[in-house]
This record gives sequence, structure tokens and C-alpha cells, in this order.
Amino acid sequence: MAKSFPSYKVKSHLVYTVWEVADVLGCHRQTVIRWIGNNGLAADTSSKPWLIEGHVLKDFLGQRQRKARCKLALHHCYCLSCRGPREPDGKIADYVQETASSGRVTALCPTCGAVMNKIIRRSDLEAIQAKLEVTRQQASPRLVSCTEPHSKVTLKEEPETHAKTHLG
Ligand SMILES: [Zn+2]
Repeated sequence: MAKSFPSYKVKSHLVYTVWEVADVLGCHRQTVIRWIGNNGLAADTSSKPWLIEGHVLKDFLGQRQRKARCKLALHHCYCLSCRGPREPDGKIADYVQETASSGRVTALCPTCGAVMNKIIRRSDLEAIQAKLEVTRQQASPRLVSCTEPHSKVTLKEEPETHAKTHLG
């Protein structure tokens, strides 16, 4: 859960109990207890109620936030099913050009098998191809407005030119 909390509401010079922290941040007190238990929030647990210093809590929330914002590696996708950055299964991905400057990378999550999508800049494609085996796909027909009666392909970036066969 990458929820962000209103750390600006925490006053640095105050000392809070678990209840008060939960109240100020609008979260469950179990969440606060978990932070103290295993996520590195320093608290005075020598007596009850447990006490957390405001500035310590502010620092903790700030660090948590920075971690959540941590940039995804270019060739990784974020899996919405099992929630985490994943390197595409088998290091393979599909790429569909969607606009002149961007496209969609589709890959499978190695952990849960879900389909992951990521919009990338066209200019990042080469860097991704250095890490993954990327198959360029044609945009699916429903996304392409096909007004020409015949297949008059005007793709400027055709990756391979088909070998010309001379007849006769
Ligand atoms: Zn997954």
C-alpha cells in the first residue's frame, strides 16, 4: 500500500501516542504499531502509552514517501496485481507505437503472471531493447483509423524493409 499520509499535520516539537498519530494521519493505529514494530519508526516503548516524537515521525514519513516515489527502472514494469516493480517474465516484452513519441510496453509479471503495461517514450525504446527482447507489434486494428480502401502503409519507421522479389 503506497498510501501517502499528511505528514505536514505532524508537529515536530510535540510528542504523540499511537492513538494520536493514528488520529492526526487518519490511519489505523495498527498501521502505526506496525511501523514501530518492523518498519523502523523509533518510539519510546519503555512504558505505556508508547510515545513517538513528532520530528521522528516526520522523518519516517518523509523517507517512506521517497521510497514509494523511487523511480521504476526503465525496463521494469509495475505489476498492479502483486504490487511491485517487476522485470518482464523471460525478459521479453511487446511494444506498440501509440503516438509519434510514445508507445506501450506489454509484458508478463514473473511473479503472478498478470499482464503489465507501461507507457514509454519512443526515445527510451532502445535502452529498453538493450535489456529486454522487445517485439514491435502493429497497433491493434481497432485503434487505427482505416480510411484508405487498401493497405496503403505509410509507416515511416518500418523496422525491416522486406526483400524485394523481382518477378520475371
Ligand atoms: Zn504480479
